[in-house]
Amino acid sequence: MSPFFESSTPRPVLLGQYPLWDEALALVNRDLAATLPDQETLRLLEAPVYGEAENVYVAMANGEWHGNFLEPESADDPVCALAAIADAAQDTVSELLWQAWPLCAEHGLGMHLHEVDGQPSWWCAGGRTPHDPAHVRAAVGALDTLVRPHRPNRKRRRQPGLRDD
Ligand SMILES: [Zn+2]
Repeated sequence: MSPFFESSTPRPVLLGQYPLWDEALALVNRDLAATLPDQETLRLLEAPVYGEAENVYVAMANGEWHGNFLEPESADDPVCALAAIADAAQDTVSELLWQAWPLCAEHGLGMHLHEVDGQPSWWCAGGRTPHDPAHVRAAVGALDTLVRPHRPNRKRRRQPGLRDD
């Protein structure tokens, strides 16, 4: 193995190295767990490029990623960090799983990242009629509050003869 290749091997980013990215990734992982519960959590990997700067990526559990590295400046601001992490996670998940992510549970459409009132959020283009306009589904990290509205009752066993709706 050449020295170049060895030095290019991506390695995990240590927790705490980029605190705002860690927090942002935790939020995005909540969205991932809420929408694709079979997926393992995403993680940050860093890979040196030509022996110079460390580029950090949002990768799947198996170490694969797709798309651009995180802009280093985004690690200094909570909103920028969340937007950057969500964007990179969307690239990685949708490209590697070959499916739009995250989907709007109401319309079945892939959502886009929009900043709403200073909060990175998932935006859906809506249905085809004027009565079904584009909408903001949830802030990044809050999809679980929508996908599982009946959460407190989920673990209750369904009993014969009883309806839980
Ligand atoms: Zn929608």
